[in-house]
Amino acid sequence: MSLDSKCAPDHRVEQMPSTITTDDEGLRCPECEYNLTGLVHDVCPECGQPFDREKLLAELAGVPAAIPIWGQRVENGELSSFVRTILEIWSHPARYARRFPKNPDCDDAANFARWCLIVASGILLIPLISLMPDLPRFVGGLLTCAAMMLTVLMCERAITAVVFVPEFKVTTVGRPKSWYPESLALVRMTRAYLPLSASTTCAAWVANLFMEQNGNVESMSVILLIAVGVYWWVSLALIAGSYRKRSYNLVLGFLLIPLCVVVCTFVNAVMFGIVTSIMCF
Ligand SMILES: [Zn+2]
Repeated sequence: MSLDSKCAPDHRVEQMPSTITTDDEGLRCPECEYNLTGLVHDVCPECGQPFDREKLLAELAGVPAAIPIWGQRVENGELSSFVRTILEIWSHPARYARRFPKNPDCDDAANFARWCLIVASGILLIPLISLMPDLPRFVGGLLTCAAMMLTVLMCERAITAVVFVPEFKVTTVGRPKSWYPESLALVRMTRAYLPLSASTTCAAWVANLFMEQNGNVESMSVILLIAVGVYWWVSLALIAGSYRKRSYNLVLGFLLIPLCVVVCTFVNAVMFGIVTSIMCF
């Protein structure tokens, strides 16, 4: 067989038209937003990235897509999927955000976030129960935990609104649609950091209990909690920048996440301060 005849099939492919004339389906490249309507091959001619036509059409039709790892728990088991999702978000936040669908199953994300809250509350019960004999300290601890959980819920919404949303979807049909529900679903997935901070708090508590009046342990606990907070902040900013590959979301994340935390913590501190003073009088 000659070299020419070997090359013949490839040559035919090259000569095939790369597009077929059709109405705009609204298909856009997830990488560069090039119009993919009518393309014969599933590779973007602009940036060279392969794309999954069925997945993009489902996205466009608004069919909810399964959440990475957590969405496959029927096949892989609930506990294993829960732990693997948490570990993936801890270790590769940007990669998880890139894999997160643009049309996620928002109810499933809320379900994962609820489990994270339950697990974190369960971990925090350990130091709380040990406070029970001292009723005022127990009530104080309970209120602090409730205030922290409420701050988390408020922060999620505030961060979604100011870091993820200042942009609208470009659609060819209908009015532009806000990214809020999809972004909130992704932000809720970062509740995976909640069991980590609860474990750190619990470990700090236990260490303080066994080494009472030890200043080193106390300062070490504070440093650890700050480190977890900074880790969550950097990860969430990376997630914001990676989800739709917008660098301004990354910048907004670094700038505005601490502001959201400060404002929500302040509002909750005032609110719970009022509740505590009402309870005391
Ligand atoms: Zn492209």
